[in-house]
Amino acid sequence: MTKHGYTIQAIKDWREREHEAGRPSGLDDFYRAHNIDICVECSGAGTRVIGVRWRDEHSVERSEEGPVASLVKLHHLDEPEHWLTDTRKWDYLYAPCLSCKGSGKLSESSKFDDEAESPPAGSNP
Ligand SMILES: [Zn+2]
Repeated sequence: MTKHGYTIQAIKDWREREHEAGRPSGLDDFYRAHNIDICVECSGAGTRVIGVRWRDEHSVERSEEGPVASLVKLHHLDEPEHWLTDTRKWDYLYAPCLSCKGSGKLSESSKFDDEAESPPAGSNP
């Protein structure tokens, strides 16, 4: 979270100030206000962890989407016969971030506003 050069505390302070002033105080609002071009959803990574991948007892690589901690438990991925390699038990399953289409940038998402369900700007009463 140091990519943009602001500390967590600085962001927190800004958001509290804006909230008290009755202005938009979301994390994306902070980024926009400071011209930071980082996708909020993935923190600029462009990908998100959506599950895990591993090898089953027949050495077939498998993957499943879901909460990582519960998948590890469900498929007993701590057991050595499921490990991907001798040194790696399992790996995260990644998918491109939907918000920025994998670009990691905040501004990319605005390109898609036209085809999204969100109402056009200025339509608020
Ligand atoms: Zn993103």
